Amino acid sequence: MAGSGAFVELLEEDVYKYYFDGEWRKSASGKSVSIINPTTRKPQYKVQACTQEEVNKIMETSKVAQKAWAKTPLWKRAELLHRAAVLLKEHKNPIAECLVKEIAKPAKDAVTEVVRSGDLVSYCAEEGVRILGEGKFLVSDSFPGNDRNKLCLTSKIPLGIVLAIPPFNYPVNLAVSKIAPALIAGNSVVLKPPTQGAVAALHMVHCFHLAGFPKGLISCVTGKGSEIGDFLTMHPGVNCISFTGGDTGIAISKKAGMVPLQMELGGKDACIILEDADIDLAAANVVKGGFSYSGQRCTAVKVVLVMESVADALVEKVKAKVAKMTVGPPEENCDITPVVTESSANYIEGLVMDAKQKGATFCQEYKREGNLIWPLLLDHVRPDMRLAWEEPFGPVLPVIRITTVEEGIHHCNASNFGLQGCIFTRDINKAMMISDAMETGTVQINSAPARGPDHFPFQGLRDSGIGSQGITNSISMMTKVKSTVINLPTPSYTMG
Ligand code: NAP
Repeated sequence: MAGSGAFVELLEEDVYKYYFDGEWRKSASGKSVSIINPTTRKPQYKVQACTQEEVNKIMETSKVAQKAWAKTPLWKRAELLHRAAVLLKEHKNPIAECLVKEIAKPAKDAVTEVVRSGDLVSYCAEEGVRILGEGKFLVSDSFPGNDRNKLCLTSKIPLGIVLAIPPFNYPVNLAVSKIAPALIAGNSVVLKPPTQGAVAALHMVHCFHLAGFPKGLISCVTGKGSEIGDFLTMHPGVNCISFTGGDTGIAISKKAGMVPLQMELGGKDACIILEDADIDLAAANVVKGGFSYSGQRCTAVKVVLVMESVADALVEKVKAKVAKMTVGPPEENCDITPVVTESSANYIEGLVMDAKQKGATFCQEYKREGNLIWPLLLDHVRPDMRLAWEEPFGPVLPVIRITTVEEGIHHCNASNFGLQGCIFTRDINKAMMISDAMETGTVQINSAPARGPDHFPFQGLRDSGIGSQGITNSISMMTKVKSTVINLPTPSYTMG
C-alpha cells in the first residue's frame, strides 16, 4: 500500500513530505496541495506546498552536494544508479498503486511504467560510464598556419544543478529520464513533480534515497506549478532546465535565463495511410496509437490522414476494434480510463462539440460520465475544425480523408507541432520520400509513433520542443565540453 512499508517515513498525518538534504520534511508554509483522484473525483492524497525560502535552501545545498559529486568516480555514480534501479523494480507495486490513484493509469500499464523506469536508470548508468569516460585529443597543426606545439584535451563536465519538471502522464518515467542522465553526468537534481503524479514521484525519489546517494544531491519540491514554477525556473541557482509538458514549456523558454533547455512539449502526431497500406496493420496501430492510456500520450496518434479510396475500409476496422475496448476504472485494467482532470474532460468535450457543429461524422455515440469519456472516432473531419489541429489529450481521434499524399504531408507540416508522424505503405521508396518531406522529429514507418525504446533519439520540431532526448543525447545535453590546452615551448618541427 502507498505510504506504508518502506515508504512510511514519507507521510505525516495525511500529508506527504518533500525531500531535502537527504530527509523527508514538512514545509514551513503549513499548507498542502490536494491531489484529486480522476476516477472518484475526490481528494486522494496531499503534498506539501513548498515555499520560496525552502527552494533557496535547496539550491544552496544542491550546489554544495554537486561539487563533491562531480569528483565522485564514474563507476561509483553508476553503482548507486544501478542500486536505485533495483529498488525501483522491487517497489513497483506501491509506486504503480499511486499512478492508478493519481492519474488513473490502468494498473498493468502503471507497473510497466515503473519497470521501464528501472531499466532506463540501469541503461543510463552503463551508457554514462562509456560516453563520459571518453574525451578528445587534438593537435594544432591540423589547422592552417599552425605549428604542432599546442595539444588540446577535451572532456565532458557537468553543468551544475539540473531542474527537472516532468508532466502528469508519465510522472515516474519522465522524471527518471531526467534524473538518471543528470546524475551520471555529475550534476545534482532538483525535481518538481507534476501535482497529479507527485506521490508516485515521491515514492520514486525514496528509492534513490534508499540507494544511498549523498545528502543534498537529489531534492524534490512539491507545490502547484502555477505558484512555485516561475520561482524555480527563474532561480539563479539553476544551470539547466529539463522540462516535459504542454504550452507551459513555451512560456518557460521565454523566461529562463542563460541556461541550456531541454523541452519536450506537445504533439499532434499524424498517421498517413496510403492506398497500398496493410489496412489491418494500420487499423491496429491507429487504435493502439490513438487510444492507449486514453490518448494521454505526447506521441499518441492525434490525426489520421487516410487516402479516400481506403478510408471506408480503415474506418470500419477501427470502429470494430473500438467497439471491443473496455471503459471504466484503472483498477480493473480497462482500456479507457478517466482523463486526468475535469478541466481536461471539458476541453476534450469542447473540441468534440466544435467538430459536431461543423459536420464531422461520429462513428460512436459521444458519452461522458465525470472524467470518463468513451472512445470516439470522428470521420470526415475538415481543416476548419479545431480537432484537426489541437491536441485533445483524450480518447477522441479525428480522421481526415485525403486525395493526394501531398495533402497529408501539407497538413502534417502546417501544424504548430512537429513531434512524430507515421506512414503506412508497402512501398519503402514512397515511405522514405514521405518521411523526408514530413517536418517532424521522428517518422515511424508501418508503426504508430512512440517515444521508446528510451535510448532512441527523441525530439520535436517547432512548438514540440528544444533539443533531443534519449539516454545518450540527454547525458550529452547535461554536460559541457571542457578544453585543456598544453602549449609546448617550441614548434616540434624545429627539434633536432
Ligand atoms: P503541463 O500542464 O505543461 O505541466 C507540466 C509540468 O509543468 C507539471 O509538473 C506542472 O506542475 C509544471 N508547471 C506548471 N506551471 C508551471 C510553471 N509556471 N513553471 C514551471 N512548471 C510549471 O503539462 P501536463 O498537462 O502535465 O502534460 C501534458 C502535456 O505534456 C501534453 O501537451 C503532452 O503532449 C506533453 N508531453 C510531452 C512529452 C514529450 O516528450 N514531448 C511527453 C509527455 C507529455 P503542476 O502539475 O503542479 O501544474
